[in-house]
Amino acid sequence: MEALNMPRLRHVLTRRLVLSGLMLGAAVTAPAYAMDAFEAVKGPLDYIGSVEFFPEAGALSAGWTVRIAEDDLDEISFALSSAFGTASVAGADVVDVTTELDERFGGAVRTYRIDLAPSVNGADRIVKFAYGGPLFPEELPLPINTLDSDKIELTVDSFWFPFDARFDSDLTARVQVRLAGEWSAVGVGSVVSTPKGFHFVQAEPALDIAFSLLSNSEVVKADDYVIHDARSEPGTKLEELTGALEFCTAYLNGLAGPAGPLPQASIIVTDRPEGGYSRGTLIALTDIEDDDEEYLLQFICHELAHYWSKANAGGPENWINEGLADYLANMGVRNALGETVFDARMARYAEQIEGHDLPPIWAAELTERPPYLIMYRAAPVALQHLEERMGRATFTAFMQRIMTDRVRTTPALLALLEEMAGAEIRTWFETRLAD
Ligand SMILES: [Zn+2]
Repeated sequence: MEALNMPRLRHVLTRRLVLSGLMLGAAVTAPAYAMDAFEAVKGPLDYIGSVEFFPEAGALSAGWTVRIAEDDLDEISFALSSAFGTASVAGADVVDVTTELDERFGGAVRTYRIDLAPSVNGADRIVKFAYGGPLFPEELPLPINTLDSDKIELTVDSFWFPFDARFDSDLTARVQVRLAGEWSAVGVGSVVSTPKGFHFVQAEPALDIAFSLLSNSEVVKADDYVIHDARSEPGTKLEELTGALEFCTAYLNGLAGPAGPLPQASIIVTDRPEGGYSRGTLIALTDIEDDDEEYLLQFICHELAHYWSKANAGGPENWINEGLADYLANMGVRNALGETVFDARMARYAEQIEGHDLPPIWAAELTERPPYLIMYRAAPVALQHLEERMGRATFTAFMQRIMTDRVRTTPALLALLEEMAGAEIRTWFETRLAD
């Protein structure tokens, strides 16, 4: 296991996931799934799977039918954990398979390069995988991935399912999960209990198949959210958490008006020291006992606000996703905790960017995704300055229009700004972004 370079693996994947917008994906939790609606939104890769978990053994057994929509591919490579040995790969469209341990992941991952039969009249090609065994033969230094009798929480960096090795294809999925015992389930899409487990449907194209299964959690249900508290001492800071969820939902729904309301959020709270994440309104929180009210409020509002920030996450427009979500959250903090707390927060942001040699927030010629300090610090500060210039009432109306119109690009945002506040403010803000 010494060759398994987890930080690097995490870096590669997290970067890819963020780039692809997975972490910002919408999570519309439907009470049940409609097959017709699902067929209409199939991703470039569509997974139909049957997975049985054996938590005591840390093992699983899986079968997948992967439908490949891209009709011009001659070959496709999938990456799967090498802990399963060599998977069986089959299907009428599979001409040849070569498999090897992937050097990029120090032997933890096996790559399957599949030569595909040509697509007939643009028809989908199908590849089937079958494999099984313990996923984590040894204790892994990964904070998130677990497959034990308390919790099953698998993310893409465990390679528990065959993952398109280009690391940038969106997928949709339907997964029949079987496992024994009493479990509760959380997913990005819809989750339906079945006699032997759960059926997950992920109809919104995303990079990962994301769900969590918990056997020991305390569940708190409300109209706007469900909290799965999986900590060894559940309940700590729960009041602050429910307070933040209730406040942020009400505040953001009020701000969004016709663009709301938010779908019901699913929150998982764990003890682990790191590895929090959010995928749409599925939010995993870690170590919240040390978080103060402002932090928790801002964090929850930020994650929920992503429901409306839908720019292309792979490039320069990602300043909209993060900057907008973050500033909407800061407006929430101001509303809940007052001007002094808000002012101090924004002053900290300004301080953090001072003295750094940063690229512009946005300019037409930019092609790179902005760095952290731009997205999470400089962009919110620019929006604060815009709010000061426009006045709060007009700025709030502007935010609502961004949400209702689902503004996805900076030119569209600037055009809307001009429409609502005039050419002079537009020019000023465009210059401010390019500064
Ligand atoms: Zn964010």
